[in-house]
Amino acid sequence: MKSKIAAITLMAILLTSVSTAHADVFETLKLKQDNRPSVCVFEALPEITDDWDLFEAATLMGIYEWQIRLYELYPNGDWTIDVHETIPWEDHQHKFAKDFGYCNIMINFEKTNEKKKSAIGTTSIVFNNSNHKFMFINIYLEHETKAKNLKIIFGEENSEITVEQKTIVLTPNQVRNVVLHEIGHAFGLAHYDVTNPLKPGERGTDRSSMYYSIDLNDKEQWLEVKLPEILMLKEIYGEDGWLGSSPAWIVKSCTIINNLLFGCK
Ligand SMILES: [Zn+2]
Repeated sequence: MKSKIAAITLMAILLTSVSTAHADVFETLKLKQDNRPSVCVFEALPEITDDWDLFEAATLMGIYEWQIRLYELYPNGDWTIDVHETIPWEDHQHKFAKDFGYCNIMINFEKTNEKKKSAIGTTSIVFNNSNHKFMFINIYLEHETKAKNLKIIFGEENSEITVEQKTIVLTPNQVRNVVLHEIGHAFGLAHYDVTNPLKPGERGTDRSSMYYSIDLNDKEQWLEVKLPEILMLKEIYGEDGWLGSSPAWIVKSCTIINNLLFGCK
């Protein structure tokens, strides 16, 4: 028994060393939803946006794209996501996650992210209460960025350098992109890392919606759920859908060895 394990380990090491040079890596969070995803969208504070209706529609598009793509590839599975009616601001402003026990994925909107300014969206995993395990997604609508080019103003005697600050307010399309990405985390997907060089003009996001960054200056960017994400979800949940019997082994990452064993790329 021991020697068998050693042989498998060695094979993994050899193949992994090949994979780091030539393959992208896609990991899972090593956890999954243990029930049908039940998504609650919390209306943003009305003062922070005039475009709530558009943001709400964009949020729903980001959620349902996963369902559509999963049904396309595995039509015999049950991939229906429960999305509850949006909870108005006044119905949740003084409440806590425990007051929404029927939601296992919550999507909340904030104006800015004071803790980690570079994050456009975050997903927190709250599994410490056995009665109510949930994922909490925050979408941040406004971002301060420094303009790329420094504006240099020369005075008569002194020269002065002005760094332009600009506020980027997410468009509905960008909200959809961020929701799409964060929902992927809520289903158990980690980031898709590009380890081999991108071809000219190619972006990481062209390969997966789970690439770690989104370019806020690119207003046209349109993330899609791609094949690697769907194949990875199949490894986590099986082909029968959210409630299907769990696979014996949850695949941890889509390196070349998993590709050989499970065809996850
Ligand atoms: Zn992410």
